[in-house]
Amino acid sequence: MSQQVEVVPGRNCDGCTMCCKLLSVAELDKPPVSWCTLCDVKVGCNAYAGRPTECRDFYCGYLLDPTLDERWKPSHCKLVVTREEQLGETLIHNDPARPDAWRREPFHSQILAWAGAAVAQGRKVIIWQGDAKIAVLPEAQTA
Ligand code: SF4
Ligand code: SF4
Repeated sequence: MSQQVEVVPGRNCDGCTMCCKLLSVAELDKPPVSWCTLCDVKVGCNAYAGRPTECRDFYCGYLLDPTLDERWKPSHCKLVVTREEQLGETLIHNDPARPDAWRREPFHSQILAWAGAAVAQGRKVIIWQGDAKIAVLPEAQTA
């Protein structure tokens, strides 16, 4: 069943498709960090009407979080933010084609701020960059 979600007014996926590269899709046996074979890059899904439930239900942080401005559009920043509420994790999927993306501003400062808040809340902030998982701490990063 599709979730009820509230997309920030004015936000949309136009010209993006970054999640179709960076995230896995179990229903398609699609691994992370590889373009979905059904993706028309930066245009949309070639199987939109029949796309998997995972895709139908997915909304990235840029679409849902009004505190993230237009600089956070994944097609621009090469970062896809997701929040895994059950795991208590904020995930930042970094495009390996731009490995320094999360270290650039304003992203780096915001990610460190999330990490600081996460400690107090018992959450984690994690960067995924290909197979590399980086746990972000408020003042230092450890691989
Ligand atoms: S990464 Fe976000 S904005 Fe981009 S296509 Fe996916 S859901 Fe839409
Ligand atoms: S099926 Fe469509 S929406 Fe889902 S990952 Fe592939 S291109 Fe993207």
